[in-house]
Amino acid sequence: MRRVTLRSGETVPQLGLGTWHMGEQRGQRAAEVDALRLGLDLGMTLIDTAEMYAEGGAEEVVAEAVKDRRDEAFIVSKVYPHNASKAGAIAACERSLKRLKTDRIDLYLLHWRGAYPLAETVAAFERLKADGKIRHWGVSNLDTDDMDELAGVTNGGNCVSNQVLYHLGSRGIEWDLLDRCAERKVMVMAYSPLGQGRILRNTALDKVAARHGVSPAAVALAWTMRHPHMVAIPKASRPEHVRENLVAADLTLTAVDLSELAAAFPPPKKATPLGML
Ligand code: NAP
Repeated sequence: MRRVTLRSGETVPQLGLGTWHMGEQRGQRAAEVDALRLGLDLGMTLIDTAEMYAEGGAEEVVAEAVKDRRDEAFIVSKVYPHNASKAGAIAACERSLKRLKTDRIDLYLLHWRGAYPLAETVAAFERLKADGKIRHWGVSNLDTDDMDELAGVTNGGNCVSNQVLYHLGSRGIEWDLLDRCAERKVMVMAYSPLGQGRILRNTALDKVAARHGVSPAAVALAWTMRHPHMVAIPKASRPEHVRENLVAADLTLTAVDLSELAAAFPPPKKATPLGML
């Protein structure tokens, strides 16, 4: 598994595990825990979750998946914008820690920008870091102008990651956000890298997949992972999907593959507002 280096020098696997919609149905819980544990077994040790997912239910699924192997996992969680005041973010983090049954979150993100000034949220994140409750902090769904603003805030330069929508059908960040994050050594995490499954039925994708003898999902993930500093976090609750996704870690797309995919999924021709789910 290729790894991406954070500004601190620590590395994380380039392929992780998403958890949105996990924890919503009791009857699915065992399968979801098993899928995450399989992912950990296969080296996809970065797990992305949020207080929003199933209103804490997804964090509880993560807790069960890592209960006897916490040190193997790099846990990412997120605070709701409406909880992202100085006191609110600290309280939200403590609730997440309880649900996750752990003493620290490896990377804590502002889920998207809300009404609280970035300076206030950053101050909370720095307090949480100083207290050992989080190890790193970052943001999500912040566009280029927001990243510029963040850089000007006290300690804003300590942001290690921006998690954004990125898949074949949504390439807007290639215009300038990707470069801006690279300049500031902010790791980009591609969320919904399979377009929530919706981009997978496509003739160009099928053709590239057939050429390599892999699934269209593996090609879609390898396409995001062609950026060496980008982490992809597909969500898969079925074991066959987890295994298929791992194939992307060893798949290198050729120039021909990339140009066929670009013809079917064109890159941006101008700046567009950051897409968001
Ligand atoms: P996604 O990962 O693009 O797609 C998930 C869907 O694809 C699920 O229905 C899954 O099915 C299916 N799938 C997975 N592997 C597959 C394969 N090999 N072949 C065919 N289908 C496959 O969408 P996402 O869940 O929206 O995004 C991934 C993660 O990013 C989320 O879970 C969450 O952690 C994070 N996220 C963050 C934000 C944010 O605002 N920061 C927003 C959205 C998502 P099964 O589950 O049935 O296996």
